[in-house]
Amino acid sequence: MSTPFDVIVIGGGPAGMMAAGRAAERGKRVLLLEKNPRLGVKLAMTGGGRCNITNAEENERLLLEHYGKGAKFLFSSFAQFGMAQTMQFFTEHGLPLVVQAGQRAFPASLSAADVVRTLEKYLHDGKVEVRTKVVVSKVLGEQGSIRGVIVGKEKLEASSYILATGGTSHPKTGSTGDGFTWLKKLGHSIVPSTPTIVPLAVADEWVKSLAGTALDDVKITFAIDGKKQLALKGRILCTHFGLSGPLILNVAAKVGGMLHAGTVTAEIDVFPKLDLGSLDTYVTRIFDQNKNKEFKNVLRQLTPKGTAPAILSLLPDHVAEQKVHSVLKDDRKTLVRVLKALPVTITGLLGYEWAVVADGGLPVSEVENKTMRSKQYANLFITGDMLNISRPSGGYSLQLCWTTGYVAGSYA
Ligand SMILES: Cc1cc2nc3c(=O)[nH]c(=O)nc-3n(C[C@H](O)[C@H](O)[C@H](O)COP(=O)(O)OP(=O)(O)OC[C@H]3O[C@@H](n4cnc5c(N)ncnc54)[C@H](O)[C@@H]3O)c2cc1C
Repeated sequence: MSTPFDVIVIGGGPAGMMAAGRAAERGKRVLLLEKNPRLGVKLAMTGGGRCNITNAEENERLLLEHYGKGAKFLFSSFAQFGMAQTMQFFTEHGLPLVVQAGQRAFPASLSAADVVRTLEKYLHDGKVEVRTKVVVSKVLGEQGSIRGVIVGKEKLEASSYILATGGTSHPKTGSTGDGFTWLKKLGHSIVPSTPTIVPLAVADEWVKSLAGTALDDVKITFAIDGKKQLALKGRILCTHFGLSGPLILNVAAKVGGMLHAGTVTAEIDVFPKLDLGSLDTYVTRIFDQNKNKEFKNVLRQLTPKGTAPAILSLLPDHVAEQKVHSVLKDDRKTLVRVLKALPVTITGLLGYEWAVVADGGLPVSEVENKTMRSKQYANLFITGDMLNISRPSGGYSLQLCWTTGYVAGSYA
């Protein structure tokens, strides 16, 4: 077959750009097809626009443990292009990185747009032909080989094909699961996707009134029908729909499971280091020091920044206008109880539009672990979010893209 291309890559996200650049580096003639007008639309949104590019855990075994059952499958590809090679790659391509709390690595500029630009330059240097605003509608396969892809009325051909069309989270960015439809038609199996790393929707007005406020160093305890299930400590972000932030995103899959078992509630403890008695002593001391001030003003001193009005809404109405010296012991005890257990009712997980990652996709048992090659089609490679590998937030998703993209680009 004589075609102008050795490799066609479908999808211009992080996995597709890495795969295309790597194949070009090996001297392959590469065509990259992307349906958006520009490359890396989702990538540009990552980490709140800062891009948590990888997780800088140096112990590869510990790093891989975050991929759960996928760890064994990924061992070989991480040995070829793991975290250290990723950091080296970006640094050598002019993008220095910084490591912040939780081993989260970011570009030093804290700009996801810089990550996109770095990869675009990688493609440009390798003379990859990039076609945007191009929707691939079909992938044609026959007798264990991919024969071409359809774009409009045109059939495009190459020796190898790399699928990098992503999963189903944030479909507005172009990740609409097209690759899953093609793989199913080609005879592969696809594990149905569910949004996993996703914020929680809640019923409580006090939470929504705090949209944009972060609760640092708090403890959240989840319960099913009032029975405590699990407790976690960390940072929670209140939003206009509910709760978000790394702690919430990472527990969402479990909470999703609980929602099938009954009514899920949570309590947020804003003083996790003090028990009820010690907190009461602390509050009493603050009250004694501010006897003649208005309760609502003193509450500001006691509570995390910006949260006093919301916490006030959870207390009996009459306390709001009282001076501290008139607050009854029972009301003080109520305040202490509220600070130890701000009440939340979880109504659900937000959908695909809000999900950072959706589980599901191609089972890794159908892919060669050293190459990312389909076990059914010798010239087909699958990368990134298309693979059914679960992982938490913290840079692990993008690392999966860099690794699988690089490996596919090395063998295609
Ligand atoms: C809000 C948000 C924040 C995130 N933050 C982080 C973070 O900080 N760190 C981290 O590790 N992960 C983060 N993630 C997850 C990460 O973005 C994904 O894991 C990653 O983008 C997956 O890359 P991909 O290349 O597999 O697919 P995608 O990025 O989804 O790219 C797939 C591309 O394929 C194109 N495409 C699809 N179908 C077709 C078609 N038929 N024809 C042509 N092109 C097509 C799409 O338009 C898209 O551009 C975040 C995700 C979201 C939504």
